[in-house]
Amino acid sequence: MNVSPCVIGAEQILTEDTLDVVNPSTGELLGRTARGTQVEVDAAVAAARAASEDWRHTPVAQRAEILRRIGGLVTRERERLALLESRDTGKPLTQARADVDVAARYFTYYASTVEAFFGNSLPPDGEYISYTRHEAFGVTGHIIPWNYPLQIGCRTIAPAIAVGNCSVVKPAEDAPLSVVEVALLALEAGLPAGVLNVVPGLGAEAGAALSAHTGIDHLSFTGSVPVGSMVAKAASDNVIPVALELGGKSPNIVFADADLDVAVPVILKSFLQNAGQTCSAGSRLVVHDAVHGELLNRLEKAVGDVRIGAGPADPDLGPLISQKQLDRVTRMVERAAASADPRIGGPKRVATPVGGFYFPPTVFDGVAPDHEIAQDEVFGPVVAVTTFDSTQQAIDIANGTEYGLISAVWTKDFATAMTLTEEIRSGQVYVNTYGAGGGVEYTFGGFKKSGYGREKGFDALGEFCQTKSVVLKVAQ
Ligand code: NAP
Ligand code: MG
Repeated sequence: MNVSPCVIGAEQILTEDTLDVVNPSTGELLGRTARGTQVEVDAAVAAARAASEDWRHTPVAQRAEILRRIGGLVTRERERLALLESRDTGKPLTQARADVDVAARYFTYYASTVEAFFGNSLPPDGEYISYTRHEAFGVTGHIIPWNYPLQIGCRTIAPAIAVGNCSVVKPAEDAPLSVVEVALLALEAGLPAGVLNVVPGLGAEAGAALSAHTGIDHLSFTGSVPVGSMVAKAASDNVIPVALELGGKSPNIVFADADLDVAVPVILKSFLQNAGQTCSAGSRLVVHDAVHGELLNRLEKAVGDVRIGAGPADPDLGPLISQKQLDRVTRMVERAAASADPRIGGPKRVATPVGGFYFPPTVFDGVAPDHEIAQDEVFGPVVAVTTFDSTQQAIDIANGTEYGLISAVWTKDFATAMTLTEEIRSGQVYVNTYGAGGGVEYTFGGFKKSGYGREKGFDALGEFCQTKSVVLKVAQ
């Protein structure tokens, strides 16, 4: 069985110890990866540092050209990468294909935008001329979760290397395969050795070594709140800036005048996509009393049509990532079921395939806004439904969790929509749509415990740069 290596400089490094990679659709062994530790992280940081001066002085047009080629190679390998991602994460093949497309788009998008980014200068002011330089940090560390390895990996890698950083990436133990493949494709595309290094391994080993490393200059982390807080503390000892993307409890807020024909399939997808293991999952449904009955009836029917199965067979709903995640989701749902009745689904009501880590779509209705199932991230195909009868109550419920990642407002009334876009405390607000298909161009990041720092869009280029003001006195 092949072992997925560390990619350090131009070398593929195998470690003595390896980690099993499990296929969540079957529970069987899918492959193995290197188990990177402090030694490999040190070597990767050194390789990145060695490549750093040349890379940041490489003309931006040349860097952009290489990024464009990486995007092209990711697209060339679309089917292979999609199948690999589907096998590794259990996600339905169609969703994995979409992830490959978005991953490729990160490279082509940042190839284009980075060329405009560096043209930034301020107008002359009296006897002074000033301008702003955006300078790469140097070496950036990236800690990646298992839910969207390709998308989330490329989401931070592409802007970081576009502006001239060299990166060291630690993928998640549960789904490391595709990120290693991207690093190999990047070398094939002509990315100089050392600009992108990948060290698969355990969070407590490779992850902890990277976040505490004195040789990195910036760290981006996507994952859970406790680990995010821990890596930020480790980085703060070295005064290293950190971008944290920590998930959410994002609401779909449905007003009485909403177009339910449009809303229902989008709401369903928002909590079922990737089996609900999405930081921006629509895991709360906040619905006006007047349409509550109608919406729930329609949702019940839609949930009844959901096909559950192995990711590569391309069902609507695949398995969860691991037995550990299945146990966690089951425990949370069982705890919630003690005080709130799952109107639809729940582990005891819907049959799921045998083998693999399957959990059925589950809808809790009539949930109090402060109930655990309406407050905490489940990371499974579970939604909590809460009702409201005034706009202010809808806003209070939407803002009433520790998180603030994304939200959606469903209404035909322009004034209501605009009020909510102002009053909701989340990094993205959608109106009559949700998540908008990958949204490479839309700045993304959290309010409150959803994190800080910004990814995607033009803002990500700024995230991976330090800004320097240069002021020239013209008149003596
Ligand atoms: P996690 O533990 O926070 O994992 C995220 C990344 O951090 C993984 O690469 C992980 O490595 C690494 N890590 C773990 N311990 C570390 C440490 N001490 N130092 C440095 N890095 C470390 O998340 P999880 O356990 O996989 O998932 C738990 C919950 O996190 C989920 O239920 C969900 O609520 C949230 N989550 C959110 C997102 C998101 O997109 N915002 C993504 C995934 C998970 P290993 O996996 O190899 O241990
Ligand atoms: Mg796996």
